[in-house]
Amino acid sequence: MTARLLLNSPIVVAGGAGFLGSHLCERLLAAGHAVVCLDNFSTGRRSNLEHLLESAPLTIQSWDIAEPLLLMGVTQIFNLACPASPPHYQADPIRTTMTSVRGAYNLLELARTNGVPLLQASTSEVYGDPTVHPQTEAYWGHVNPTGTRACYDEGKRCAESLCFDYQREHDVNVKVARIFNTYGPRMRVDDGRVVSNFIVQALQSKPLTIYGDGSQTRSFCYVDDLVEGLVRFMSAKEVLRTPVNLGNPEEFTILELADLVLELTGSRSRTVFQPLPSDDPTQRCPNIDLARRALGWEPRTTLRVGLERTIAYFDRVLAGEPRRRRSRAKLHAVDPNARVQPAPATLEPATRQAGHVQR
Ligand code: UDP
Repeated sequence: MTARLLLNSPIVVAGGAGFLGSHLCERLLAAGHAVVCLDNFSTGRRSNLEHLLESAPLTIQSWDIAEPLLLMGVTQIFNLACPASPPHYQADPIRTTMTSVRGAYNLLELARTNGVPLLQASTSEVYGDPTVHPQTEAYWGHVNPTGTRACYDEGKRCAESLCFDYQREHDVNVKVARIFNTYGPRMRVDDGRVVSNFIVQALQSKPLTIYGDGSQTRSFCYVDDLVEGLVRFMSAKEVLRTPVNLGNPEEFTILELADLVLELTGSRSRTVFQPLPSDDPTQRCPNIDLARRALGWEPRTTLRVGLERTIAYFDRVLAGEPRRRRSRAKLHAVDPNARVQPAPATLEPATRQAGHVQR
């Protein structure tokens, strides 16, 4: 993107058309900010934001952050641009690494030239299959650097190191949020992560696919809580020289999650066991003492309440299915062991990738 001066001092949200990004855009717009959403629409969707376009100062710019960009006059930058679901980020692993690393670099340059803070969406995946439990920010992690998850894990780890080098070398105010499993409305039906898969399967009376024996754990944070944490982190005055965990410290096995989804949907689906994907972490739970102390933040939504809201959302989406969809295949939960069809590996700007745009 060539140099552009933005007149209404917007906040940039890269990945703003995605699940998390669209909730963040909505929240920032509601607080009275102007927002520029950058998205290449590889997993994000215009429809996540369209309801905001008429009434709010929102600009949606089709852009791949792996390409350099120059915008002047921005006030804050959130970098949420990267597929976050294992089947999606593994579908085109080289592109995932490039999005994570080049994307972070390009946005850090944008933060440096504008002299504004940047919040980097990092991930609990930087802890890999953790040997310390719950995970504190001080833990360096246990990542397989050459496995099928490495494109995401190592891409995000490299992005973190870039952030702290920009802090040390250029005094950029970086805020690195290590985001744990998050769920809620606007997840894609074909997202492939466990919460959306189980809900869609339960609502469609299909078997719930449990990978491995289901004893592995995750800690699930409702999207509104997470967005609150991101906004607080961005507005925090204190310059933190460490990443901050954002997630819900209540830990569940995957079997417990399946039971709860079945109970709340009233579904009579059965469960089927399928092979555990390689390098699937056996346990994951954030220690959020730092977020509590530095941001005054902790999640408020129980899994039961968050799931009820998410089930209501998917219920509506699936009920609208015949009118909205063009292809039946698109609205089914991801077959857990099938690979998502990769988008063409290219670093061309999204504006030139009509094939990538999903509406
Ligand atoms: N999982 C599962 N069934 C599914 C999808 C995922 O049992 O249909 C498991 C997956 O193997 C992992 C956990 O649920 O142990 C969380 O997976 P997810 O893809 O949601 O996120 P991750 O934490 O692995 O990035």
